[in-house]
Amino acid sequence: MKTLLYTPKISKDGFHLWMAYPACEAFALASLGYMWLSKIAEEEENLSIEQVYTDSAMTQNRPEALAFSMSFDFDFMGVFEILEKQNIPFLANNRTEYSPLIFAGGPVITTNPEPYKNIFDFMIIGDGEYIFIKVLDILKKRLTKSETLLELAQIEGVYVPNINKRVIKVTEVLNKVIYTPIISEKSYFKDTFIIEVARGCMNRCAFCTASYLNLPFRYYEYNKIIDAIELGLKHTNKIALLGAQISAHPDFEKIMKYLRKKIESGMNIELGISSLRTDAITPELIKTLVLGGQKTSTIAIEAASERLRKFINKNLKEEQILNAVKLSRENGLKGLKIYSMIGIPTETQDDIDEFIKLAKKIKSENKGFEITFSFSTFVPKPQTPLQWAKREDTKSLEKKQKYLEKELAKLGINSKFSSAKWDYWQTLLSRGDDRLTEFLIEVYQNGGKIGAYKSALKKYDIDTDKFINGYNLNDTLPWDFIENNPKKEFLMNEYNRLLKRIKS
Ligand code: SF4
Repeated sequence: MKTLLYTPKISKDGFHLWMAYPACEAFALASLGYMWLSKIAEEEENLSIEQVYTDSAMTQNRPEALAFSMSFDFDFMGVFEILEKQNIPFLANNRTEYSPLIFAGGPVITTNPEPYKNIFDFMIIGDGEYIFIKVLDILKKRLTKSETLLELAQIEGVYVPNINKRVIKVTEVLNKVIYTPIISEKSYFKDTFIIEVARGCMNRCAFCTASYLNLPFRYYEYNKIIDAIELGLKHTNKIALLGAQISAHPDFEKIMKYLRKKIESGMNIELGISSLRTDAITPELIKTLVLGGQKTSTIAIEAASERLRKFINKNLKEEQILNAVKLSRENGLKGLKIYSMIGIPTETQDDIDEFIKLAKKIKSENKGFEITFSFSTFVPKPQTPLQWAKREDTKSLEKKQKYLEKELAKLGINSKFSSAKWDYWQTLLSRGDDRLTEFLIEVYQNGGKIGAYKSALKKYDIDTDKFINGYNLNDTLPWDFIENNPKKEFLMNEYNRLLKRIKS
């Protein structure tokens, strides 16, 4: 079943735009940004909108433009799949004046659009919800393609690769609360009403794009969030609150109290919170989550040793981690997932052994409480202070993974690991430049498995040294043309400050 919380305007002769999601429908329906932009487009006059996914049955209707939302580095596979089904050439230069306009936005594009500059006719850099309306107004004029691109290039936050030499990343003031406009059992988050409570995070961990690309931290007013909760509860009992740093909302406790009161008065609410900040866990928060049906939760410690956490600006003390686990157990959760990275620059065997020491302490203090350690490997991201850093060698990371798996198993603790091999390719994609264009197409055409990446790299003989081993501080970076705040100088100073911090 699907419940639409808005009334789409049907305009048969309107400009025919496809809202394309480069993965299956279940993920599209769970993507708040994509769904909200689709709602915006469907509520506009003179537009005819179709939502398409990689598993959609394609219609005979020919789109005049396709808007892609890219959230993950490997989403290019889905982009090509949808274009191929429509016989649309992948490269912008191979498309004619009469081909549909192909454009994209989303975190991947905002972080570094350069690997995709030969594919999309234009891209949206930054928060999409307001720029998108301006873009739609121009598309609706049905000018020629070159006239449209010329007009689009004038909009702040729109990057037309053939025209713009610089682009300003747009950061909007949050006003109207964003929520799931279609509640569906087909969604990956089945029948869940997701509400964005806050955007960004003021903690500025040195690797984190959720923070650095969304500064300053912004949030919606309490009353607007409550109105959204009430709207959701009219249609479902599953409510999820979203935000990188929800607990920093000045009225966070009040929001939780509001929900708790409802549950205590007999209302059946299943409550989900996207992430718990380790140092912001309170007995009341855990009790509310438990009342809302949550059995386990996740905390992110990012690194096991205090030395490394200091380096990445995650200023979390061991006592705070132990306290978070204790409060989670004492207040009714059945288990906790502890998320961390390995391969952070300067990491030593001592840092890795700190995981084992920490796990031992947690285990002995929390008997019967189910703990899982979940590890990914460090992927340096553009527009953060660690954008210059070296990515650790895959073999060495895999050795660390095996070691941790073995040692944690000895303690009776489960562990999960991301694939170091895939994280390697993610590094290449996220720090790459436009030399990757043919490479991406080749990877897609050969099925997108790891072997396809290796053979594509061989075929095009791309020098990946900087993408993987890192950039020098005085290098021009592929994404330098994006004007973001904080600026490159700030990121550089922060990188140096953090390096000094662990040397002193
Ligand atoms: S606390 Fe989490 S969201 Fe905030 S900067 Fe650190 S890693 Fe990013």
